[in-house]
Formats: sequence, structure tokens, C-alpha cells
Amino acid sequence: MAKNTDFIIQRSLEVLLEDQRYLDEIEADAKKTALRSLSSILSTPNHIHKSFLRIKLENGEVIRIPSFRVQHNDILGPYKGGIRFHETVNEEEVINLAILMTLKNALHEVPFGGAKGGVVIDPRDYTKRELNLICKKYVQYFSDILGPEKDIPAPDAGTSEREMDWMMGEYKTIQPGESYLGSFTGKSVENGGSLGRKHATGKGVYFTFRYFLHDFYKQNKSLIENTTNALAKKVDDFKDRTLKLAVQGFGNVGSAAAEEAYHCNHINNQVIAVSDRNVMLYNKDGLNIPELVQFAENNHGELPSTDEQLKEAGVNAAIKDRDDLLTLDVDVLFLAALEDQIHAGNMDHIKARMVVEGANGPVTNEADHYLNEQGVLIIPDVLTNAGGVIVSYLEWIQGRDTQYYSEEEVYERLFDKMENTFKRVLPSFFERSFTLRQICYMEAIRRLSLILFRQGKLY
Ligand code: NAD
Repeated sequence: MAKNTDFIIQRSLEVLLEDQRYLDEIEADAKKTALRSLSSILSTPNHIHKSFLRIKLENGEVIRIPSFRVQHNDILGPYKGGIRFHETVNEEEVINLAILMTLKNALHEVPFGGAKGGVVIDPRDYTKRELNLICKKYVQYFSDILGPEKDIPAPDAGTSEREMDWMMGEYKTIQPGESYLGSFTGKSVENGGSLGRKHATGKGVYFTFRYFLHDFYKQNKSLIENTTNALAKKVDDFKDRTLKLAVQGFGNVGSAAAEEAYHCNHINNQVIAVSDRNVMLYNKDGLNIPELVQFAENNHGELPSTDEQLKEAGVNAAIKDRDDLLTLDVDVLFLAALEDQIHAGNMDHIKARMVVEGANGPVTNEADHYLNEQGVLIIPDVLTNAGGVIVSYLEWIQGRDTQYYSEEEVYERLFDKMENTFKRVLPSFFERSFTLRQICYMEAIRRLSLILFRQGKLY
């Protein structure tokens, strides 16, 4: 079950067990038992809810669509996690993503637990009316387990503020008189959403990259110079030159990250390639990202895929095969599409020296191990793509108080929160001999286990 996260969780637990300072309030023998119980808590969800949504299509046909809500752990607060609409959604994937949410919230000290939802559809195959019905049915089927103090969904791949608006509307109908603004996050601003939520994940992804190579670098020169961690030493390879970036996925996360890179003055970088489910666009001198964002906004989120469309967008680029983006000779690969994009079949063709995981789980365990051995720096999903859940938390607070923050305040709070996390984990990466992913998992697990122990739930 949940192979991706489970492997690293187990490895992190082994390391933590050896660390005398870890949970030093428990005696050594009891610690072993406690960690065994922690291992099972972390690798299995509290609840797996499944249902088949019965939908009458516009052509009169009635279908049943598999759908899931997995609630992994709520020790830190109400369950929280997106709902994905994608044809490849399956139970194991949803469990894995729910576990990642628990770890991400623990790592960034967001007072939520971990959950995830999924509906097995390609949303492009359905009309707007049918999608509206699917959203309503999802809430009807799972209404007992959802709510502002129980489990709070948000958008994920294939869903957006439109779906969250519909879902919150249905929740309000089903639970009359109950508070409802905090039942879903990622809603439109007019409907109680937060300013800045739409771009929060992509902005946070790029902020992590920038912080790592610029802010942290400037403030921690001696730590970096003296590191004995061979992987951490590689950070020097990215100094004092123009970095070539490629961004896989041009949806909510990828387009915002690419736009941040385009406008960044702190790092000398150029986005030379972007891709979506249809094409890759390439220009060795850098792409005009704002024009591409504008085009995608007017074209159902899709990049120009013909020469005519490129002309219409006013963008100078070559159209290439989508998957070739992964093996381009670039410095940094931003992965912002789906999971398992770098795997055993293509890992030895990767030329980038750094991978930034905007998507959840875009590198398989095998490829992760291989790339680490090759000295490729990986900035892991749990660290870098938490912007969405952090601003979702701000949206939840704003909904409770019905007091709203300006966009500047939202981003200030977002970056502050992420910076706090970076200050807790980045030094360890340079001082110890682990990957950044292992450091982040250990920090998240340390926090979860301490709270479980203090609440008398770790025995
Ligand atoms: P999205 O649906 O808005 O965008 C996905 C993009 O990936 C689209 O441009 C799509 O065309 C493209 N794509 C799909 N398959 C591809 C392929 N094989 N090659 C290249 N591009 C491909 O989704 P999103 O919200 O941007 O989410 C992307 C990833 O980030 C997901 O893994 C999601 O779980 C993760 N994530 C999203 C958020 C959020 O706030 N939206 C937060 C945290 C993590």
C-alpha cells in the first residue's frame, strides 16, 4: 500500500530510532514499540470512503463513476486535501496522496490532518452541466464526513475554483444552518475564497527554489562551504550563470511557477521549455511566459499547439514532442503535472542537475534513488508545493472570521510560513548526510510523533 511515501517513511523511522534526542521522554525499549505503532499509523489511512456517483448524462445515459475520499490522519487538525478529477485516479494513488498531505501539513506546521479525494473521469469528456452534477453528487455521497471541522477539500489536478464553488453550494444546501464557508477552500474570491489562492502553489514552488539558491545561499555561506553532504555541495554548481529551466505541466501550478521565474530578479534564469498534455514549446533563448499564460487562460488552460496558435499568442517557439521536455539539457526541471513522471524507464536520460517537485510524487522511488546517486538535487514535493494548503488555511481562517486579507497580506503570510519551514530543515540538509526529502520526512514525522505521544496515542 502507498509505496511511494511508505518507503521513505520507513527509512526515516529507522534513522529516528537511532537518534538519542528523538522522543527522549520515552525509554529506549518503549521507543521501539512506539515507533512500530507510529509506522502503522503513518502507512495506513484512518478511513477509505468509496462510492459510485450515479449520473444521468445529457444524452439520457445513466453511468456510475468511481470516487474516493481517503482520510489519512487528523492528529494535527481537521482532514485536508484536494479532490482530483482524472481518468487514472485509483485507490492506492489517493491513499498515497493523503499520506503526503499529513506529512506536508506537519512539516509546515499547518493545523490540519491529511486527506485526498478523487473522481475517475477525464473532465474534458463531460459537459459543464454534467460536471456540476458530478460535483453535487460527490458532496451528497460524502456529506456526512465533510465539513469545516471534519474534512475540508480543495482543488487538485482537474478541478478549480469553479468545482469548489459548486461543492460548497451543495454542502450549504445539505447542511442548512451550519457554517459552510470553511467547508471547501480554493473557492472563487466572490464566493468566500482567498485572494492569492489560485497562484499560491506555483508561487510557493518558485519561492522554494529561489530561497534555496539565493536567500539561504547568501545567509549561510560558511555552512554551505563546509558541508560534507556531497548532494548539498552541488548547490555551488548553480551559482553565477544563467540557469536554463524547463517546466512540465502548464496548469495551476506550472504556469504560476513559470511566470514567477520569468519575472524573478534575484536569480538569473530563463524558462526555455514548457509542456502540457498536448505539446512541448521550446525556445533556447527563453519563452514569453506571460503571453503563454494569457493564451492558456483564453483556451481552456491549453498551450498553443499549432503554428497558427503560436502566432495568435505572439510567442516565438518550436513545437516539440511533449515527453522530450524531461530529457532536455537544462539546469533545472520543474515537474508540475502528475506523479511518476521520472521513472526507471527514463531516469538515465535526465540531464537536469536539479529537479523541483511542484506536482505530488512526480519521481518514483527508484528514480529518486538513482538521481540522488547521480548527484541530482531534488527539492521534494512536501517542501515545495505547500503554498496551496497554506493559503487554504488562510482562506479557512478568513471564512471563520469573515475578515479578509489583501493579496499582499496573503503572500506575506505564505512566504513567512514557508521561510519558517526552510529555516528548520535546510540547515540540516547541509549538516547531515541525507537527501532533502529524508530531512523533510524526518522533521514531519518528529512533529507528528511528538503530538501523538503527548496526547497519549503513541503506545
Ligand atoms: P492542473 O490540472 O491545473 O494542471 C495540470 C497540467 O499538467 C496541465 O497543464 C496538463 O495539460 C498537464 N499535463 C498532464 N499530463 C501531462 C503530461 N504527461 N506531460 C506534460 N503535461 C501534462 O493541475 P494543478 O493543480 O496544476 O496540479 C498539478 C500537480 O500539482 C498535481 O500533482 C497536483 O496534485 C499538484 N498540486 C497542486 C496543488 C494546487 O494547489 N493546485 C497543490 C499542491 C500540489
